[in-house]
Amino acid sequence: MAKNLILWIVIAIVLMSLFQSFNPNESIVQKIDYSTFMNDLTNDRIKEVKIFEREIDVKKKDNGRYLTYIPLKEDPKLLDTLLERHVTIIGEPPQGQSILATLFISWFPMFLLIGVWIFFMRQIQGIGGKGAMSFGKSKAKMLSKNEIKTTFDDVAGCDEAKEEVKELVEYLREPDRFKKLGGKIPKGILMIGPPGTGKTLLAKAIAGEARVPFFTISGSDFVEMFVGVGASRVRDMFEQAKKTSPCIIFIDEIDAVGRQRGTGLGGGHDEREQTLNQMLVEMDGFEGNEGIIVIAATNRPDVLDPALLRPGRFDRQVVVGLPDVRGREQILKIHMKKIPIDSKVDASILARGTPGFSGADLSNLVNEAAIFAARTNQSVVRMEDFEKAKDKIMMGSEHRSMVMTEEQRELTAYHEAGHAIVGKIVPEQDPIHKITIIPRGRSLGTTFFLPKGDQISISKQKLESQISTLYGGRLAEEIIYGSQKVSTGSSNDIKTATNLARNMVTQWGFSEKLGPLLYAEEEDEIFLGRSVLKSNHISEKTARSVDKEVKEIIDRNYERARNILKDRIEILHSMKNALMKYETINAEQIEDIMNQKFESSENKK
Ligand code: ADP
Ligand code: MG
Ligand code: ZN
Repeated sequence: MAKNLILWIVIAIVLMSLFQSFNPNESIVQKIDYSTFMNDLTNDRIKEVKIFEREIDVKKKDNGRYLTYIPLKEDPKLLDTLLERHVTIIGEPPQGQSILATLFISWFPMFLLIGVWIFFMRQIQGIGGKGAMSFGKSKAKMLSKNEIKTTFDDVAGCDEAKEEVKELVEYLREPDRFKKLGGKIPKGILMIGPPGTGKTLLAKAIAGEARVPFFTISGSDFVEMFVGVGASRVRDMFEQAKKTSPCIIFIDEIDAVGRQRGTGLGGGHDEREQTLNQMLVEMDGFEGNEGIIVIAATNRPDVLDPALLRPGRFDRQVVVGLPDVRGREQILKIHMKKIPIDSKVDASILARGTPGFSGADLSNLVNEAAIFAARTNQSVVRMEDFEKAKDKIMMGSEHRSMVMTEEQRELTAYHEAGHAIVGKIVPEQDPIHKITIIPRGRSLGTTFFLPKGDQISISKQKLESQISTLYGGRLAEEIIYGSQKVSTGSSNDIKTATNLARNMVTQWGFSEKLGPLLYAEEEDEIFLGRSVLKSNHISEKTARSVDKEVKEIIDRNYERARNILKDRIEILHSMKNALMKYETINAEQIEDIMNQKFESSENKK
């Protein structure tokens, strides 16, 4: 910055001196004082004078030349003397240059300096957004309906999420039709999913499909160095949005402002709380039928303040997960359309080789491949380029742990199939929604159970079923690969199962031997997430019996799960195959596999 300033000053000085030398009054002719001129004149040494106003260009008889200046405004005797001495007198009209040009030339450097100064003042203000003058203004960027080119066709691999938001498009297109019928449309939608899965893209596509303006702002934009700015930004943004309704406000990374209040280390962040409160006020303040839909995105729904999730706010949640094989293939195809591709490139093969890749990774893959091709001067992007690009992206540390080898994938498939099969057989277990071996966070695969309604109390039978189900994963690994090859992937299952069994004995009175007594108080997790187990003065002997009872519950259910799986090895294999092939299988497919109808229905296709 300082360097720049110096540079500008030097330029200004150079320009100034340049203009000085252009000044037409300046010349190389000598300047002589008036008295010498008068002396020359009286001594008849002057041949000719050219008079411009008070300046005299003097030509001497010996061809010498000089300039002189008349000291007084008028010298009445001068003309007489000149005539007397027979000097040729030439009068010049007033200077040919206009006053404006003279002014411009002499003032130009000044203007230049002022311009430079203004420029720098703006620069300095520019630091930290639009500058101190406008820090209350929302930093939301607005895209008008004609600027948004994104449609649902640009989004792939998250069909469920797409389905869920389609209704919004209809509403935004014709809000009046819905209003007449008294239809209630959610005001706030929370998009949950790992980074790069297309949350922003999907929100934009909603606006693009509905042809409404789209305001976008990031949660971190609300939180800045000036206290109170965040809240006023929120107000301002809603103010602007109301003027263009129907429209969409998209708040990216809402967890930056929407973190749970009043918790966490280092005390609450006042500024953030005010911002969050203002947001809640605004969301409550406008009626749902004003046509503003707020869409927020986060990859940390767990840290959000519960107040944000209450009805009338972000009560609708849309999960945008990592794409499965088919989804990845479609995403690749979308991005491949933008570049020339060799006919041998097979998107389905690439999709299979990129488990755990998000949409953004895949778009990056296509881009990198195109760069590799360009570097070697090819006219089309070939499969080799994609392979190279894939290796490059996988080498990036982030994905090294995510991308699984074939063996890992198989082991994970057996593990999840184990959970699912046991879960299907034991009584009272919740229905399975889907199973996936797409890695998310630290887990390699997940089996989703769908609880029917809220659970306030759970029966003993159901708890035992859960424990059996939890061990299904580990047991499947053991049955297939032998006890030496069992992986560490079950540590979470073991922890959950053990806690369940212990609580059954110590809190819920489910042990016949120990009876319905409280052997431990509930864990207290209010302070800093530290769990304080307040032990309830139980004797060592009782403690030992508690441990024994816990062990017995676990053993009983472990054996049950083992038997369930041993009797259904065929099903275990075919569920593994289905998982390896599709990565995610839904309730219907699971049902078919359980009834051993899956392979046959597959063959029909
Ligand atoms: P997020 O907001 O979830 O972090 P983005 O929407 O910003 O992810 O995605 C970044 C880019 O990655 C998009 O612009 C798009 O090119 C690509 N992308 C991500 N997800 C998808 C998808 N489901 N379909 C097509 N392209 C995607
Ligand atoms: Mg985003
Ligand atoms: Zn498991």
